[in-house]
Amino acid sequence: MTTGSQTEFETVIGLEVHVQLSTQTKMFCGCRNVFGSAPNTNVCPVCMGLPGSLPVVNREALRYAVRIGLALNCEINRYIKFDRKNYYYPDCPKNYQISQFDMPICYGGHLHIPVGDGQLKKIGITRAHLEEDAGKLVHAEDASLVDFNRTGTPLLEIVSEPDLRDPQEAYDYLQNLKLAISYLDVSDCDMEKGSLRCDANVSIRPAGSTAFGTKTELKNMNSFKAVRAALEYEISRQHKVVLAGEEVIQETRLWDENKLRTASMRSKEEAHDYRYFPDPDLVPFTLADSEIEAARTALPELPEAKFQRFLKDYALTEYDAGIIIQDRGMADFFESCAGIFDDYKKICNWLNGSVLQAINERKTTIAQLDISPEKLTDLIKKVDDGTISNLVAKDVFLKMLDSGKDASAIIEEEGLAQVSDEGELEGIVDALVTDNPQVVEQIQSGQEKAIGFLVGQAMKKTQGKANPKMIRELITRRLSNG
Ligand code: ADP
Ligand code: ZN
Ligand code: MG
Repeated sequence: MTTGSQTEFETVIGLEVHVQLSTQTKMFCGCRNVFGSAPNTNVCPVCMGLPGSLPVVNREALRYAVRIGLALNCEINRYIKFDRKNYYYPDCPKNYQISQFDMPICYGGHLHIPVGDGQLKKIGITRAHLEEDAGKLVHAEDASLVDFNRTGTPLLEIVSEPDLRDPQEAYDYLQNLKLAISYLDVSDCDMEKGSLRCDANVSIRPAGSTAFGTKTELKNMNSFKAVRAALEYEISRQHKVVLAGEEVIQETRLWDENKLRTASMRSKEEAHDYRYFPDPDLVPFTLADSEIEAARTALPELPEAKFQRFLKDYALTEYDAGIIIQDRGMADFFESCAGIFDDYKKICNWLNGSVLQAINERKTTIAQLDISPEKLTDLIKKVDDGTISNLVAKDVFLKMLDSGKDASAIIEEEGLAQVSDEGELEGIVDALVTDNPQVVEQIQSGQEKAIGFLVGQAMKKTQGKANPKMIRELITRRLSNG
């Protein structure tokens, strides 16, 4: 390296993502697996690590892990074995975490990310192993308290290959990983609740080199954007270290969301410090091939496949399809609508517009909104056949949500039907022409755009009920007749 330009370095990133599985009970005991209970109310001798208690593997958690593994194109290990990862920390009552060391339940998978021009890049997934979550330390003013409710929550740790080359790729990988998992009904995937967490490993190396540089591991990011920002910061920090002739040291660094920088937490412990060994309380067992094949058959259509199919079957744009498939419920809703009404673009506009807005504003889901594909397509048809304007329809839609009534009832009760009666509209146009001589002059001198002003006035006067197409025609006709 002779000059200090950043382009002479290549970035290498690998991500470790922890996903909490939303099973009924914890990984190795019968305690409820729920978020938000009063501290230390979902605990028992097993997850508290009391002497003499024995863990039992949660079958549901195994099934969820297999489901995620298959969705990520992984091989599934038939041989299920758990190991103890030994360490001391106040949130870990047993002084070890039950995890999987050399035989993760899933390995050798991949996920695609978009890299522009409709191209996809394959990101390898090294492994995904089952383990249990630790408890939570709560730091109060004069003491640190521990809540063991989270202790023993089933976790799947998904480890990527160091295939990511910049922070945006890392961000896209996280988006697509979360999206794929969200289709499987196995996790909330909610970063705010901590049900999805990400540690990011990053190093730099001279462009063209095949050997990896020394990596640092970044923790404490609580959104995908924070992961991207932390990586950006860390990459530039590593550039500076290397250009100053120093070496990057292998360590764990914490992202500080306020100061927007990473700071060293500890230098990396070696793996053998954990003294992994097979957990003697959990006898290994094997999964049947038939079980795995049944899980494969039961997988839903995954977002990537659905996206491609929506482009093909409904001629949606990549933009529209990309939004619709972000939520499996929304995608299903779209398809139900498409079975009733064949203007797919219009359905899409409604879903990605008013419907999505209502979902966000009311912090709810499409399933919980009081609207069905039948009701929504009825409303769209009312715009299509000229009964109401698009503007009024948006209002009717909100009234439908609040009252549960269908579009026709609301239109009738509130007298919202569009005025398409020529005589009535002519009267309105007459009045506008008389009241706006200057605008009329503009129109007659060829300023077509001024017609829009009069149409707007007509809509205003009739509270959006005038048929705008007819108003426009009537104005044009009237003014061309002098
Ligand atoms: P460790 O033993 O430190 O946990 P692993 O080999 O298990 O390291 O890898 C952990 C994560 O770090 C993986 O996602 C992997 O892709 C990534 N990784 C490994 N080496 C590098 C590197 N040199 N630069 C960036 N990421 C790396
Ligand atoms: Zn328990
Ligand atoms: Mg590791």
